[in-house]
Amino acid sequence: MIDELPTERVVPHSVECCMCGGMIPADRNEEYTIIGNDIVCNDCLQDYCRTNYEQYAPDYIKSNGSEFAEDLWRNLTLSEKAQVAEILLQSESCCTDVAKEVMFDYCLKHLFDFSSYVKEKYGT
Ligand SMILES: [Zn+2]
Repeated sequence: MIDELPTERVVPHSVECCMCGGMIPADRNEEYTIIGNDIVCNDCLQDYCRTNYEQYAPDYIKSNGSEFAEDLWRNLTLSEKAQVAEILLQSESCCTDVAKEVMFDYCLKHLFDFSSYVKEKYGT
């Protein structure tokens, strides 16, 4: 009769970095990071993030929204800013009290043009 062998869990001796292909001893987990199905060594982590930025950027930006908003706004053209403003004003959830105040002030500042526009577009 053959004794039943104890089932052993196969633990890899080393893991492979998905970026550089370098082998890292599996028990040195401070030298690599597991991100989803990828194993990335510490040396390649920044390169990995740069390569996969589209996947991780939205969550990262949500956590640093203010600074991103400043960079974005500074780099938009005037017509792109106009598109953003249009989206903002059309969205009830995005149209903040400040945006409403700016919209009101803008209309007051251009009251003659605003009135003419309203008369021409909506008047009969
Ligand atoms: Zn690597």
